Amino acid sequence: MALLISIGHDGWYTGEQLADELRSVAPGTDIRPISDPGNLEDITMLAVSALKGDLAAQLPNLQLVQKLGAGVDSIVAHPSVAPHVRVTRLKPQEPAYEIADYCLAYVLRGQRNLSAHAASQSRSAWEPRAPGRPAETTIGVLGLGHIGGVTARLMRDMRFRVLGWSRSPKEIDGVDCRHGAEALPQMLGICDYVCSILPSTPATRGLMDAEMLAAMKPGATLINAGRGDLVDEPALLTALDKGTPGHAVLDVVSKEPLPADSPLWTHPQVTITPHVSGWHLGDALRDVVENYRRLEAGKDLLHEVDRQRGY
Ligand code: NDP
Repeated sequence: MALLISIGHDGWYTGEQLADELRSVAPGTDIRPISDPGNLEDITMLAVSALKGDLAAQLPNLQLVQKLGAGVDSIVAHPSVAPHVRVTRLKPQEPAYEIADYCLAYVLRGQRNLSAHAASQSRSAWEPRAPGRPAETTIGVLGLGHIGGVTARLMRDMRFRVLGWSRSPKEIDGVDCRHGAEALPQMLGICDYVCSILPSTPATRGLMDAEMLAAMKPGATLINAGRGDLVDEPALLTALDKGTPGHAVLDVVSKEPLPADSPLWTHPQVTITPHVSGWHLGDALRDVVENYRRLEAGKDLLHEVDRQRGY
């Protein structure tokens, strides 16, 4: 048995760094970076951030693909991952709080008129503006799972009115929880800020289409920190031109990196960040090693994903 690490993209850990870090947590474990994979027949577990090409199909004894993060959409339906191969994800605390902080930062940018005050300063203009009152501001959180739950609680603790939306019923103290497709348009119509932390699944892809965008409150802000394919981007640009919603903050887009010629870069009502809202994995790296041990011992795995459901 061996664990192969393939990060699959630049700009984060390298496979060698991560293998070293995991070996320091579990000395003596057979952990190999993709640059030095050894005999591929030994590999029973593959840990990836992004699954590249047909790598999984080249590992004849693969039993488990471990995502080094939360979003498994690129793995669950990947043609190189045979149906019997299991998929696990991480549920790290640190990036859940980071994503909640990201949403809060952009809510506060609006509430405290930060962009408008910066523009006033650039004109040496003393222009007082009343900040928004949290108690009079409604935040909608789409997705009330590991990350969305943290986000909804943070917004509640910041004294905002909070509505939450999920697939199945939920109860969160101080959050007005709604569920199911039919509940969404009405909820969108009363939120000043809509923070999406939904996974990418067949049911969520393209969910924010022209109709749903039109259901939002005029002038509201859409913050997407889940997956880019939630939003119909051409429809979003048209909707922003009409003022509903009034602004979009996109940490994730349908094609990443966002192509240089995308009109999203230059639209005055769009804010782009390069998929950075959640970054650090912290202690969750230990769960990678723990899953390797559990796989070896035939025990239940941590954070196994339902491949049919897609998250
Ligand atoms: P979870 O699986 O814990 O939660 C997903 C939530 O989405 C659940 O509440 C689920 O409802 C809800 N949901 C799923 N499908 C639907 C649907 N069709 N209608 C309504 N609600 C739905 O995931 P996490 O919170 O850990 O992560 C969410 C996503 O965030 C990840 O899948 C990933 O794509 C993204 N992400 C983005 C990062 C970034 O840096 N921008 C970093 C990490 C993750 P229910 O509870 O009823 O099942």
